[in-house]
Amino acid sequence: MKREDARAGTGLASSVEGDADGCHARARAIPPQEARRAALREAPVVLVSACLLGEACRYDGRSQRSERVLAALEGKAVVPICPEVASGLPIPRPPVDLRGGTGVDVWAGQARAVEREARTDRTEDFQRGAQLALEAARRFDVTVALLKEKSPSCGSQRVYESGVLRSGEGITTALLRAEDITVVSDEEL
Ligand code: SF4
Repeated sequence: MKREDARAGTGLASSVEGDADGCHARARAIPPQEARRAALREAPVVLVSACLLGEACRYDGRSQRSERVLAALEGKAVVPICPEVASGLPIPRPPVDLRGGTGVDVWAGQARAVEREARTDRTEDFQRGAQLALEAARRFDVTVALLKEKSPSCGSQRVYESGVLRSGEGITTALLRAEDITVVSDEEL
């Protein structure tokens, strides 16, 4: 597995390219699971949640290293990204929940990303991290991302909204999908 230097996995990326209007991500049809798996198998380069590769970038300072993920990436080039750390948020950091909807709703201006206890609004940080992930994907011609499930940034099938796990996607996943990048969950492997 060859690791590309996106300069974003550790928050070092230096610029943000937002959408034309800076705040919208149009929802696109999601390919069925078998098509997502096939896209991952065939992809020469994959954008990957850095925590799945063993980087201790989670909100609680831990990693989420997955041997299944590492096996699925065998022989591929990998672009690691932690959108939340790339946005400038620290490790560790307070856990964040989506409120009012999921990632697509955040880009539509109808939901927010809010710290679970202090209720500090982190929406702009999470959107900046998503834009950095998209920028890294474009830089390396990535068409497939393999991201950590249940995260308010990287979740692709289930996320926590107001403390309750529900179906939906995170803020980074919603933006990547709007830009025609296939997102595969680590739980689909
Ligand atoms: S799930 Fe995504 S945002 Fe959360 S620690 Fe992993 S890479 Fe970072």
